Amino acid sequence: MRVSVYDTKRYDRRYFEASKAGKGAVEWVFHDFRLERSTASSAEGSTAVCVFVNDRVDADCLEILAEVGVKHVALRCAGYNNVDVAAAKERGIAVTRVPAYSPHAVAEHSVALLLTLNRKIHRAYNRVREQNFSLGGLVGFDLHGKAVGILGTGKIGRVAATIFRGFGCRVFAYDKHPDEEWASFAGVTYAPLENVLERVDILSLYLPLLKETHYLLDTKNLGRMKDGAFIINTSRGKLIDTRALIEALKQGKIGGVALDVYEEEEGVFFEDLSDTVLLDDELVRLMAFPNVLVTAHQAFLTHEALTQISAVTRENLLRLHAAEAPLAHTAVDPA
Ligand code: NAD
Repeated sequence: MRVSVYDTKRYDRRYFEASKAGKGAVEWVFHDFRLERSTASSAEGSTAVCVFVNDRVDADCLEILAEVGVKHVALRCAGYNNVDVAAAKERGIAVTRVPAYSPHAVAEHSVALLLTLNRKIHRAYNRVREQNFSLGGLVGFDLHGKAVGILGTGKIGRVAATIFRGFGCRVFAYDKHPDEEWASFAGVTYAPLENVLERVDILSLYLPLLKETHYLLDTKNLGRMKDGAFIINTSRGKLIDTRALIEALKQGKIGGVALDVYEEEEGVFFEDLSDTVLLDDELVRLMAFPNVLVTAHQAFLTHEALTQISAVTRENLLRLHAAEAPLAHTAVDPA
């Protein structure tokens, strides 16, 4: 079977080509551009497309995919907010995703961001390289004993909560579907959202982007947080209202922010733009704060995660091509 794969980088190609999962052969057609309405006709000749977080698979794009004979959109990620799942169903196009490839990869990256930001490792690294061994401005705080808020206790949030408990943090959590049995085993306390926001020193987001989580951290909710609190977001950029965040940083309300995702990351993250003028003034403003750390959606980028992503995606492509059911929990159905 032939599969058009969009927004690919060298590491995607390497892991997909190495994967042997599933029964059958796949002819990969790798594209470095993203899938959207204007590029959808490039899928002609493929029975499936494979997409990532910043491809825009809306109704218009799906219309063209259906016309050129595509039967399956395989997301090589967990989040599926960029695919119009109802429109796909209407056109008889199946949608699958990789719901769990390595919750450890993402949870560990969020903690790495926090440790870097708090202990100013990024600044120390640059100083030492220039033989500047001074310590001025590098004061951090102990994580031990601090109150950490986990928003979303799904696969990634639970791993993160366990890591924070290992540091000796007090962990409070908010989830629409709390699991009290897990919480009592893990030493985590569930509380209403407002309560978590008000009491924690560090807030970390592990929520999907949905209508009800869009701009969850807006001016009002940022205002509820403790003065000087830290925020980590490795989930989706649009969980935070960037303008409100910039204002809270300017006022000193928020003490530090670590972001692996950004609401306007499409077309910026994953690209080498070092020779161009960055036109996104809000991103430039964010990066100019000394207490903001940005990585470009790399939390998933571990050997284990890439191996699992390519295996599950390849197996599902072959299964659906052979008119078999996809792997358990990977089908995406309209809400
Ligand atoms: P999950 O589905 O296992 O967990 C999500 C949790 O959020 C669930 O417990 C659910 O009950 C809760 N939830 C859903 N809607 C809610 C709401 N309105 N209010 C409160 N709680 C709500 O997901 P996961 O695997 O832990 O991943 C979380 C998110 O992380 C994904 O949706 C994805 O956007 C993001 N992610 C980012 C990267 C990266 O590289 N940065 C990689 C993987 C996933």
